[in-house]
Amino acid sequence: MQKMTVEDVEVGGKRVLVRADFNVPQDRNGGIEDDTRIRACLPTIRYLIDHKARIILCSHLGRPHGRFDEHLRLEPVARRISELLQRPVEPLREAIGPEVMRIVSLMQDGEVILLENLIFYPGEESNDPGFARELSLLADLVVNDAFGASHRAHASVVGLADYLPCVAGLLMEREIGQLSRLLEDPDRPFAAIMGGAKVGEKIGILENILPKLDVVLIGGGMVATFLKARRFDVGISLVEPDMMELIGRILQNAEARGVRVLLPEDVVVTEKMEPESPARGVSSREIPGDCRIADIGPRTITTFTGELRRCRTIMWNGPMGVFEIPQFSLGTTAIATVLADLHATTVIGDGSTAEAVTQLGLAGRMTHISTGGGTSLRFLSGKTLQGIAVLADKK
Ligand code: ADP
Ligand code: MG
Repeated sequence: MQKMTVEDVEVGGKRVLVRADFNVPQDRNGGIEDDTRIRACLPTIRYLIDHKARIILCSHLGRPHGRFDEHLRLEPVARRISELLQRPVEPLREAIGPEVMRIVSLMQDGEVILLENLIFYPGEESNDPGFARELSLLADLVVNDAFGASHRAHASVVGLADYLPCVAGLLMEREIGQLSRLLEDPDRPFAAIMGGAKVGEKIGILENILPKLDVVLIGGGMVATFLKARRFDVGISLVEPDMMELIGRILQNAEARGVRVLLPEDVVVTEKMEPESPARGVSSREIPGDCRIADIGPRTITTFTGELRRCRTIMWNGPMGVFEIPQFSLGTTAIATVLADLHATTVIGDGSTAEAVTQLGLAGRMTHISTGGGTSLRFLSGKTLQGIAVLADKK
């Protein structure tokens, strides 16, 4: 990686501001519903503890837009980190100001504190230089581990770099490393599995990564738009007409480069996308006028999994069907199960697929599951992420 990481700098005795992504889903009582993002940052925190840094954690949580909100304080996050680390993590009631400065000035090597939710301050989202400067006064160095926030031009992600050296944390390094590998030097054959609800946000990836690919497997809601682009009837499935032209171009481009794009030969359809609604397998050429596509069909599962077994790198963005409803989840389950058993590099780049794989208990058997759904889509589409761009380059 061309960016400096926490391992490239001296951190002992230094005040290190760690920008993490602790934007965790909360349940109705304000408890932490899923602590995956917190756990993902632990290696960086542990590294800093072992190397005797003074660790000042910070993050945003929710979107209260520049106002204090009792329900979005980071205190429960501090408690969870403390349980996981088995050591005290002090939650502060503010993120900047004289009281925070005082507490930081009393910190010992290896101590960990957590600043209050950054997004309570209007200057965070507006990337206000004054706010960034105040934050910078707390530390000697910034370690950015918030991959999931690195597309945001916020003060703690981008603005801080004007005042302090910023380097990547271990999670950030892993995310950039795994995703860059797909863009630059994937082991071949390389397959992309594309699915999920919307074509729009995923198609940029295909465009960008096409030259590296050997095969593309299309599933999920975007099947309808791809079939329509090939003049198939798709019943009442949602089609994105604006995407047709782009899809046409990508299909042409793929053909010219010898990249195979496989559409499902059969699909599971239903009249209503509801738990009680019966599911029926049909050929993709015979989709009934009153039905919509809800999953890939059994023959397609056989074809797709056969392709995947031959691949050495697989990137998966988006479930094959409406996996939240059991009778439409077979495609997603079959793909996940095959990937789990492969000796290939398997990278999951979006939130819904990560959720599906986690529900199946197969998360640990993938090479990498990105912690930043939308962020990894942008990264794989070749867009510059400002939070990564400002990290110091390796010498
Ligand atoms: P998200 O932002 O939730 O990750 P995605 O665009 O990745 O959105 O889509 C994920 C969603 O796609 C899942 O909730 C899944 O139910 C839905 N989905 C998958 N296949 C279909 C389909 N054939 N029709 C409609 N929705 C689908
Ligand atoms: Mg998604």
